[in-house]
Amino acid sequence: MTEKCLFCRIANGEIPTKFVAETGEAVAFRDIDPKSPVHVLVVPRQHVTSLASAEDEEVLGQLMMLAAKVARSEGISESGYRVIANTGPDGGQSVDHLHLHVMGGRRMTWPPG
Ligand code: 5GP
Ligand code: ZN
Repeated sequence: MTEKCLFCRIANGEIPTKFVAETGEAVAFRDIDPKSPVHVLVVPRQHVTSLASAEDEEVLGQLMMLAAKVARSEGISESGYRVIANTGPDGGQSVDHLHLHVMGGRRMTWPPG
């Protein structure tokens, strides 16, 4: 499964992608189809299908901390931003490798669609 997983291939360098930031457990890169001026994805290096199957608290902690770090480096920490983990069919997840969307640079609406 991980051999064909898009985000595994990005995280392991098989698909060359510029990382905005990285840690031992996670990488951050720009969304290919941004829905806001800042739209970065934060993904674990190890394959985790979704938040629903996540078990490693250390990895989840690094993902969230990296999301906040990316927001700071992208200059949206003060203006504000969203961190989103679309999960499963009703959550609108389209890539089955856990990822956090870090979105900002515009005023978000609530509730999301
Ligand atoms: P989801 O819909 O699963 O929450 O989010 C998947 C995100 O991955 C989408 O926002 C989509 O634009 C992004 N995406 C899909 N394929 C690629 C890709 O090959 N490279 C990058 N950087 N982002 C991708
Ligand atoms: Zn994967």
